[in-house]
Amino acid sequence: FTKQEGRNSYRFFSPEMQLHSVRQLHMENALRKALERNELRVFYQPQISLATGKVVGMEALIRWQHPEFGLVSPLEFIPLAEESGLILPIGVWVLQTAIHQLKSWQEQGQPPMIVAVNLSAVQLRQTYFPQIVQQCLKEANLPAKYLELELTESVAMSQPHKAIAMLDALHALGISIAIDDFGTGYSSMAYLTRFKINKLKIDQSFVRKIGNNSDAEAIIDTIIGMTKSLNLETIAEGVETKEHLDFLRERGCGEVQGYYFSKPKPAEEIQIWLENWSNNLEGRITKERERS
Ligand code: C2E
Ligand code: MG
Ligand code: MG
Ligand code: MG
Repeated sequence: FTKQEGRNSYRFFSPEMQLHSVRQLHMENALRKALERNELRVFYQPQISLATGKVVGMEALIRWQHPEFGLVSPLEFIPLAEESGLILPIGVWVLQTAIHQLKSWQEQGQPPMIVAVNLSAVQLRQTYFPQIVQQCLKEANLPAKYLELELTESVAMSQPHKAIAMLDALHALGISIAIDDFGTGYSSMAYLTRFKINKLKIDQSFVRKIGNNSDAEAIIDTIIGMTKSLNLETIAEGVETKEHLDFLRERGCGEVQGYYFSKPKPAEEIQIWLENWSNNLEGRITKERERS
């Protein structure tokens, strides 16, 4: 009997599958405590205007430093946080942290920038989400125009009618919206024009192929052309080389973000980076543009 039971219970689980689910279970439990134990961090990555060479924004990217698991990627723990509902308190914490950080950069006299915060589908499904965001802005006394929210096409398209209403409400507050990882999902053009959005973020999978894949280059061209005719802004993510940068500038992309400029870093390191950028590097972007 025991043998039988044993055989049955092992039948559907390979050793790796068990290991994986045990890790996930541990992680989910640990994630519950991560907020109160102060294990979550927000890193920032600069966004640069190609027209001026200036830093115009910072994307907030969450990090989890766990004593046992080490640095856990958001690609691994965000899905767990979504399943367990923990993404709601975590999402509010990221908003509060990023908004306060931008406020303190403004008070230090840093150049005018926005802060961009990634959103999960679960957050967008909350009826009171716009009020939550508004409350966070009010607490920090930050005008809504300095906040951008990033959501992916699939988040918007999964419940388009709800997304339209939600984006209308956020837009009415003065918050701007960017569609993240653009080009990888299935947006319908008809919906795209009905969503109150300000910016498309060209996915890094296309940017990475600049110089060796003409299809990817054609897609980038098409996205830039489309944003122009829809009066939206464009930002390319995952810009890693000068070749990427030159191509994007030549094709009229508005903004860039990627390791070529800076990896996501803690706020204190970003401050040092910002100083260095405005002293030495900012001019390089525009000079190159004038030459070309
Ligand atoms: P994303 O919003 O599309 O962010 C871009 C990802 O690309 C980030 O990974 C960033 O570190 C990475 N990256 C930036 N520049 C380069 C580059 O030049 N080359 C390469 N190879 N990668 C680059 P990260 O920080 O691991 O975040 C992964 C994803 O996790 C994000 O994708 C976003 O979807 C999600 N995420 C991060 N923070 C949050 C958050 O606070 N809330 C929610 N809901 N999701 C988040
Ligand atoms: Mg993003
Ligand atoms: Mg992205
Ligand atoms: Mg992504």
